Order: sequence, then C-alpha cells, then structure tokens
Amino acid sequence: TKVTPYANEPFTNFSLDENKQAMEAAIAKVKSELGQEYPLYIGSEKVVTEAKIKSINPGNVDEVIGYVSKANQALAEKAMVAALETFESWKRVHVRKRAEYLFKAAALMRERKHEFSALMILESGKNYVEADVDTAEAIDFIEFYAREIIRLSEINETGPLTKIAGEDNKISYIPLGVGVIIPPWNFPLAICVGMTTAAVVSGNTVLLKPASTTPIIAHKFVALMREVGLPDGVINFIPGSGAEVGDYLTTHPKTRFISFTGSKEVGLRINKLAADTVPGQIWIKRVVAEMGGKDGIIVDETADLDAAASAIVASAFGFQGQKCSAGSRAVIVESVYDQVVEKVAALTKQLQIGLPENNFAAGPVIDKTSYERILEYIEIGKQEGILLAGGEKAEGNGYYIQPTVFGNVSGKARIMQEEIFGPVLAIAKAKDWQEAIAIYNDTEFGLTGAYFSTDEERIAEALETVHCGNLYINRKCTGALVGVHPFGGFNMSGTDSKAGGYDYLLLFTQAKLTSRKI
Ligand code: NAP
Repeated sequence: TKVTPYANEPFTNFSLDENKQAMEAAIAKVKSELGQEYPLYIGSEKVVTEAKIKSINPGNVDEVIGYVSKANQALAEKAMVAALETFESWKRVHVRKRAEYLFKAAALMRERKHEFSALMILESGKNYVEADVDTAEAIDFIEFYAREIIRLSEINETGPLTKIAGEDNKISYIPLGVGVIIPPWNFPLAICVGMTTAAVVSGNTVLLKPASTTPIIAHKFVALMREVGLPDGVINFIPGSGAEVGDYLTTHPKTRFISFTGSKEVGLRINKLAADTVPGQIWIKRVVAEMGGKDGIIVDETADLDAAASAIVASAFGFQGQKCSAGSRAVIVESVYDQVVEKVAALTKQLQIGLPENNFAAGPVIDKTSYERILEYIEIGKQEGILLAGGEKAEGNGYYIQPTVFGNVSGKARIMQEEIFGPVLAIAKAKDWQEAIAIYNDTEFGLTGAYFSTDEERIAEALETVHCGNLYINRKCTGALVGVHPFGGFNMSGTDSKAGGYDYLLLFTQAKLTSRKI
C-alpha cells in the first residue's frame, strides 16, 4: 500500500473558543486522574517498585501528578536482558510492519492530542500553545520516521549504487542492537517520542530512561505504544536516577548505542564513559548527544525593528527560556540599539505570569534546582549588565521567575557565555553588523541563531559566517518543524544529528552491502 506524503501536524488556534474549551476539558480530565502510580515495563512484565519518583506540578508544587516506579541497576540489567532477547525477533520484523505500529500510534495520539498536551501543561509547566506544539512535533516525528524507514528500505529501487556488469549489488540499512534512550524534560513528549520511535522503527530495541521531572508524560507515550500492539520488550521503560541507571547502562558491554539529549555536562560524561571498552564488548558504542545552546539573535540597522524585537522576546521567553533553541542572547548594532532594547523591554514587561493551566504567557521553571540556579544567574547579571526588565522571583505556589532582560552586557560576560536555561536575556551592543556576527560566534555552543536585516549582501554573508546548526533569517530562532527544519547543533551543542531530517535514521542503523555474482 502506498503511504500518503508526509505533512506537518497543524497547530491548534486557541483564540477560537471551541479549541480553548477543548483544552480546558482535557485539563479537567487529566486532573481527575492525578496521583496514580505507574509501573516500569520490562519485557512482558509490569514492575512495581517500592521506591518511587514523585512527579509534581512546577506551577503548583502541592499538586502531585503521579508516582512512577523507579529502576535501579538490577532492574536496568533485567531490562537489558529483555531488550537483547527481543532484538533477535524484532530485527526480523518487516519494515512495513514496524512502520505500521508507528502509523497507528500517530493516529491515536492525534485523536487524544489535547490530553497529551494537558498532561504536559500540568507536569512540565507549558502553556497551551507550547504544549500543543510539543504534541504536534511528537506526532510529526512518528509520521516522519515511519516514512523514512520505508524510504530507506526501498533505496535500491532509486539506484544509489554505481552499476557494474556481472553483479547485483544492494545496500540495506540494518539495525544496531539495544539502545539506551535518554531524553530531557523540556520537550518531554516530542524529544522522548522522536528518539524512541526513530530507534525502534529502525529495528532496534531500547531502554527508555525518561527525565526524572517528567516521567508521567513519557509513561503515557509508552502506554500508547503498548496499546497499538508494539511487542513487549521493544520499548523497556525504566525511569530512574540519571547518575545511577544512566552510568550503569552507558558502561554496559551490551549497549550498542546511546541516544541522548540534555545538558553539555551529562552529554560529555556519556561520551567519555561510552568510549571505554569493557570486557565482553565487541563494538564501538555509537553516541548521539544533542546538548545545550547559547543561541542568539543579531539585529542590524536595516532590519524591521518591531519584527526583530518581537522575535527576540518570543525566542527568549517561550516556555520560560527552557528550550535548547532559546534566544538567550541578542546582539544589536549600536545605531538602533536603544530603539530595539526599548521595544524588547516593553514587550517583556507585558508578559503575564501565572499558572500554565490558565494559559499565562509566562509560567514556572521546571524545578527547585533550576529555580535557584536561574536566580543566581540573575544576581550575576546584575553585576554584568543593566537590568531592563524583571530581575526577581515572582508570586505563585511554584517556581516562578520574572522574565528578565539585561542590557549593555559584554560578549565575554558569563550570562553571554553560559547556558542559563531560564527566562533571562542578555543583550550586547555591537559597533556594526560584522562585529555583531563576531560576538554571536564567540561561543562554545552553536545550536540556533537568527539574523535580522534587509540588506541582501549582509544576509548572504551572515548565511555563510554565522556558525550554528539552525540559522534563521528575519524570524525567531525557536520553532523548528520536523522535515522542514532538521534540528541539531555544532560544537558543544552536540553531534548535529539533525532530528526530523533525512539523515537521522542512519544514526540508528548500519549499512550492509551485499554483492551477488550474476
Ligand atoms: P540533563 O540534566 O542533562 O538530563 C537529561 C537526561 O539525562 C535526563 O533524563 C537525566 O536523568 C539524564 N542523566 C543525568 N545524568 C546522567 C548520567 N550520568 N548518565 C546518563 N543519563 C543521565 O538535561 P535536562 O535538564 O533534562 O535538559 C536540559 C538540557 O537539554 C539543556 O542543556 C538543553 O539545551 C538541552 N537540550 C538540547 C536539545 C538539542 O536538541 N540540542 C534539545 C532539548 C534540550 P535525570 O532526570 O534522572 O537526571
């Protein structure tokens, strides 16, 4: 059967009453189910442990989302055994059949879209639009990777190899083995779903260790995959401490690959630990590590300044700046600096802070550790720049911080160099557009960037010299779409794996060449 062409899942328009009401109803439904206990899934077993991870609402810390069983090293080992065993049968399941599970899962997630979003609103502190976009991206990843594995399986039909007489040559992309999937909490559905389904549809079996702050949304996804009939043992669900379970599996001789998205510190640790070979290991582990960012927007004097200011604010403060693509820096050319900064400060002050379920523009940050770290950076910022907006914690029974803007910050300042991962924007002044690009490029990261200008020559130069994985012209630096803007960064932002792109599944497969004499 022919598969329909891939298209992005549309976003929901919440200015329409009916959509807003549908989300409110979904939130009410999810609220009525809060506080439950969730098991691990290891092979065909549901495992309940005494130790639990308690997941709470960061916007109302007295609200418990649920309790998830917690794996330790012994359970991680058990999951590894189950995954190894299942790999032997799963790798032989036909590509079409594997893709079919994904198509069913996408259809079911689409049907229950607002329910997934509502759970994220409560568990991660996203507002309606941010949660809706996350769910849409999750659906996109599933649809996209299902089509991608079909495309790869049919690649010989499009003739990728040079032909010679007397031989029939073919290339096929076969799975690697057991992979460890370690997603972050900031796209608690999309990234978890993307990394997991890419691995699984490619024929691997996985151990999924979700972020400890958002395990329930990860559970909801795993439950969905079980509902569509994915065989036991293909996705083994083992929430647990990153340090304990993560290190154990990273150093395990049977781990074939590790797919990680998260901070630079943890990504580098995984890369280092995985590089060591241990007794019983017969391969080089493949590590895909997508890490942090210190992304920024450059504005020159020819730019549409209103559009630039709105993009700076949207990029800096969407989901409280907790995106790897967040525009936490802006570099503005001197002659328009005061104008742009004034607009940015005014727009920032308009952002209302409050409970995500009431759909405020600005919500809480994820947890106490983040909250304290961000407030410390705000104090550092007060030494390094001029406070233009925010600068304090905010009211509420959760981890609320005012959207904060610092101006006149030097390119070398800590708040210009270090990933804060919160609602803090640092703005630098450059003497001209070339210096602005140089300030932008003076970073160890290289994930997203944007350049605002109407000058074609400068745009052409920026396209070449602004060094980041995802570069946008005259638009915000957040909001990559699956299939449209394959996503991944340079340097300390990671291995540039380009999630949602046409090379992505190659990372979960190995190419086998077969040559037959005819
Ligand atoms: P994190 O603290 O690095 O955690 C990410 C995941 O790693 C979590 O599941 C965590 O588990 C686990 N982990 C912790 N220690 C580990 C260890 N020693 N071995 C194996 N796994 C371990 O990052 P985060 O706070 O969740 O996410 C925010 C970061 O992700 C930011 O830096 C952001 O820029 C980055 N990010 C990058 C991209 C991208 O595409 N480049 C996308 C999204 C986010 P626990 O929760 O149990 O600690």
